[in-house]
Amino acid sequence: MIPIPKFMSTAIERVIFRQVTVSKVRFLSERLQCLEITGESLKGAAWLPGQVVRFNVGNLTTRSYTPMRWDPIRGSAEFILFLHDRGPGSLWAAGLDEGDICNIRQLRNALDLTLIEDPVIFFGDETSFATAKALHDIASGNEPNTYIFEVSSIKESEPVLQFLGIPSINLIEKKADHGHLYDAFITIDLTARTMRNPCCVLTGQALSIQKIRQELRVQRFPIQLLKTKAHWSNGKAGMD
Ligand SMILES: Cc1cc2nc3c(=O)[nH]c(=O)nc-3n(C[C@H](O)[C@H](O)[C@H](O)COP(=O)(O)OP(=O)(O)OC[C@H]3O[C@@H](n4cnc5c(N)ncnc54)[C@H](O)[C@@H]3O)c2cc1C
Repeated sequence: MIPIPKFMSTAIERVIFRQVTVSKVRFLSERLQCLEITGESLKGAAWLPGQVVRFNVGNLTTRSYTPMRWDPIRGSAEFILFLHDRGPGSLWAAGLDEGDICNIRQLRNALDLTLIEDPVIFFGDETSFATAKALHDIASGNEPNTYIFEVSSIKESEPVLQFLGIPSINLIEKKADHGHLYDAFITIDLTARTMRNPCCVLTGQALSIQKIRQELRVQRFPIQLLKTKAHWSNGKAGMD
């Protein structure tokens, strides 16, 4: 993409974005960062768990991140960002400091977690931790959910998920040949057999969602109980 001259991008930014301040940045592990933003525009906003915020990560390029918490009275929102180091969103996030000004766009619908009934089998990767936390926080608890994650390092992710207080976690380490996805499917399938009418939510990498969805369809998993939202795809830039 041809870079937009700085004076033009600053003028456009003022029109299409709202400004917020980075009020906290904390590394929960080497590549997982907890970010809190604060701003007048977040006050009174009607955030539905699962909706995303689009940040300007530079040169008017936006990337979506899912709030795990939103405080409309204080005007703040918290996120978990995965810093994989392979794209502009990740590099932007790695450079954030407390006091920095960020540009965000209006809330965008992704998954409406409020419409998903327990029990849920949730699948995702490191980019899905905040979505899982938002889901866990609104779960009724009557029928416990199960959270299954494919991750690049169990050692790195496990303490972060424990810190977030997400229970019933199954962690599966990624393999380059995607062979681990069969283990993920088996875990989902076996879990589904122990639940009454579970809803299955698949998030994260597009390829993983596609493969697990195929297997679930072969097993005749009810399609109306299957929800998907891809966060990224190998070889693609952004997913929104
Ligand atoms: C609805 C929605 C919600 C999202 N919520 C979150 C969230 O809460 N937290 C979060 O961290 N991210 C979240 N994401 C993903 C985030 O928006 C970024 O797109 C993503 O992290 C990559 O941005 P990037 O600019 O760094 O890389 P991109 O420009 O998007 O991708 C460049 C290349 O980097 C590689 N890549 C991209 N993502 C990953 C990855 N996760 N692991 C390994 N390699 C990768 C791929 O090869 C890709 O081709 C969400 C995305 C969507 C669509």
